[in-house]
Amino acid sequence: MKRLLTLCLLAALLCFCGGCTGAPLSRTAMLLDTTCTVTLYDSTDEALLTSCMTAIAADEQCWSRTDPNSDVSAVNSGGAVTVSEDTAALLATSLEWSTRTDGAFDITTAALTALWQTAEEQNRLPDNATLQKALDTVGAGKVTVDGNTVTCEDGTQLDLGAVAKGAIADRAAALLKDGGCRSALIDLGGNIVAVGSKPDGTPFHIGIADPQNPDALVTTVAVTDMAVVTSGSYERGYKIADAWYSHILDPRTGHPVSNDLLSVTILSPSSTEADVLSTACFVLGYNAAAALIDSLPDTDAVFVLADGRVVTTDGVQTVF
Ligand code: ADP
Ligand code: MG
Repeated sequence: MKRLLTLCLLAALLCFCGGCTGAPLSRTAMLLDTTCTVTLYDSTDEALLTSCMTAIAADEQCWSRTDPNSDVSAVNSGGAVTVSEDTAALLATSLEWSTRTDGAFDITTAALTALWQTAEEQNRLPDNATLQKALDTVGAGKVTVDGNTVTCEDGTQLDLGAVAKGAIADRAAALLKDGGCRSALIDLGGNIVAVGSKPDGTPFHIGIADPQNPDALVTTVAVTDMAVVTSGSYERGYKIADAWYSHILDPRTGHPVSNDLLSVTILSPSSTEADVLSTACFVLGYNAAAALIDSLPDTDAVFVLADGRVVTTDGVQTVF
């Protein structure tokens, strides 16, 4: 919500600076378990905005773990399941990213998430045997995608929570562009895509929240046609026996992430990749994450370290 407010302020500022040709067209809805806002700056096409919000809701129905009619629920109920082409493609991409991130990103963490949710409800840390049982169901190798048919090993459960918002934002951006929009912001609970630039051709300014004080910003980045996605443990997590645990889990150990990072923001032309990478980098810790980002073209990052340092990679354009 704080990030949303920040964005609204920035959007308002754009108008006062003479960037808008008319009033922006904006809509907010509670979708994807968060607040989603889409704002068109160069269009008065209400129908386009409506179809964008409808598409976001439809994708959610497909990729939600909790909607019993979703493709993900169908796969999680076991056996060989036929899914949509889009779902099969997203699963295949996600599984590839598990390999590329040495298992730091993994869409089979659902059993672990359930375990930590139960631990929070019971206010008691899980014992080793229970943790190991859940961990035994985790691993990209336990999922097979063959055309549109998806099969999980017994017990393995999918959770697209770390990639779905990114993928949905990419699809929303494509829909807006197809509809002729060249200046828009899509904000799916902090997963942001800048479609094009401001109407006057200058970049959008996106504030990055300070994980230790989400009312403040650590920096502001200037972006055109770019996704900006943050992962951190400051907004969501598990409170167990008076301690705070991250909702991002290390699929290799089953434990909530606790390392030298407070948050990672990824800048990438692909919102799907930005979402995958923000989660993966948060798991990997600063050194391995910085090396991974270095190896990827057109991909930049803002790391907020536990010691308070803010490190930006070379391609990040900050606004002073
Ligand atoms: P958010 O959705 O809060 O913006 P992320 O994109 O980092 O943050 O996704 C975190 C969610 O993804 C968790 O709530 C959980 O459902 C799932 N998850 C947790 N750890 C991992 C992981 N290592 N790889 C993939 N998914 C994960
Ligand atoms: Mg993510």
